[in-house]
Amino acid sequence: MAVDALKCKECGQTYPLEARFVCEHCFGPLEVQYDYSGMDVEEAKRKIQAGPHSIWRYSDFLPFSEPPKSALDTGLTPLIHATRLGEYLGGLKNVYIKNDAANPTHSFKDRVVSVALAKAVELGYTVIACASTGNLANAVAAHAAAAGLDSYVFIPTDLEEQKILATGVYGTELVGVRGNYDDVNRLCTELSAEKDWAFVNINMRPYYSEGSKTLSYEVMEQLGWEVPDRVVSPIASGSLFTKLHKGYSEWIDLGLVHGAIPKFHGAQASGCNPVAHAFEEGKDFCQPVKPDTIAKSLAIGNPADGPYALDVARGTGGTIEQVTDDEIRAGIKLLAHTTGVFTETAGGVTVATLKKIADRGEIDPEERVVVYITGEGLKTLDAARGTFEKYEIDATLDAFNTFVPTPVTA
Ligand SMILES: *Cc1c(COP(=O)(O)O)cnc(C)c1O
Ligand SMILES: [Zn+2]
Repeated sequence: MAVDALKCKECGQTYPLEARFVCEHCFGPLEVQYDYSGMDVEEAKRKIQAGPHSIWRYSDFLPFSEPPKSALDTGLTPLIHATRLGEYLGGLKNVYIKNDAANPTHSFKDRVVSVALAKAVELGYTVIACASTGNLANAVAAHAAAAGLDSYVFIPTDLEEQKILATGVYGTELVGVRGNYDDVNRLCTELSAEKDWAFVNINMRPYYSEGSKTLSYEVMEQLGWEVPDRVVSPIASGSLFTKLHKGYSEWIDLGLVHGAIPKFHGAQASGCNPVAHAFEEGKDFCQPVKPDTIAKSLAIGNPADGPYALDVARGTGGTIEQVTDDEIRAGIKLLAHTTGVFTETAGGVTVATLKKIADRGEIDPEERVVVYITGEGLKTLDAARGTFEKYEIDATLDAFNTFVPTPVTA
């Protein structure tokens, strides 16, 4: 069918569709290449609309010859027209929130894991593993449990407690590694050479990353087969950001939708800003950093797809921004106050970035801006602690009517 090969992003060398992620000639990253020639666009659209209520409705654009099934369906999350948020930002009429917290394990990682796991099963693997900054751990543990596969999940020991609990509960082998994510990732890369396991974001990375394209397809379908003018997305390794771009480009090139590629704005925390820093400096490579931020899900100091993320931002007339931990907390609050959506710290980074761009006056009031909210606020509760007041009174009318506000830190 349409899936052709793995192809090196640097030298173009092709490889069969197996569990490999790096080019033997130049060490460049491998990417899935499709052959869409002969695709009937109207038929493809009709198939999508008649397809399952999950990411598998887009399976003609994913690396499978047969549409996969999964035990834990992912995708078709709400696209919310955020009118109050737009008003607050100076009268923007068309700000949309893509709320990907509404997935089975409450982050966009359900998409990438669904694709990687389905491919791993197709290739005959029985053990699934990952190196995670938190949300990937939740998703791998849950999807492996649903599929009846064994799993190993490697995380930095200092992860948010909510994310640790929401991983261990699924019965995975949970391994805390003393070190940061980059240490965990290095260990897992060594392990992947030794074990016959499918590491979703290492040896399965070309397939894993394809799952992110569904976040573009869904938005275009939800906008009535149209393309937004701008997108704002968080960046950790840069995989999501670059594959969003691949998703929009594919449908525009194929003629499934008409319009120009959106301007791409990337969002990072100041405490882990290698891509934003390179963007500001006009460099085309990223200097690794030691992360120190409340946005732990984005805390990758040495981002594998950093250079490609820079290309996407520059090539579309976008930017890559950085925001402080205080701006992240304010971003979480702003989204909650204006939309009723409670996001984790990564979403705070994204909303604070949107605010930054809006405050500069770069966004036309009529433009359609899609803001990717990639995770759930209940997983990073510390970020909300102490950001509002709470009163405590006796259960009498008198107490309520006359009480002196007594802030209690929750
Ligand atoms: C993993 C993650 C991202 C993006 O990660 P990339 O490595 O850049 O693909 C964004 N938001 C959340 C909440 C995540 O968990
Ligand atoms: Zn190569």
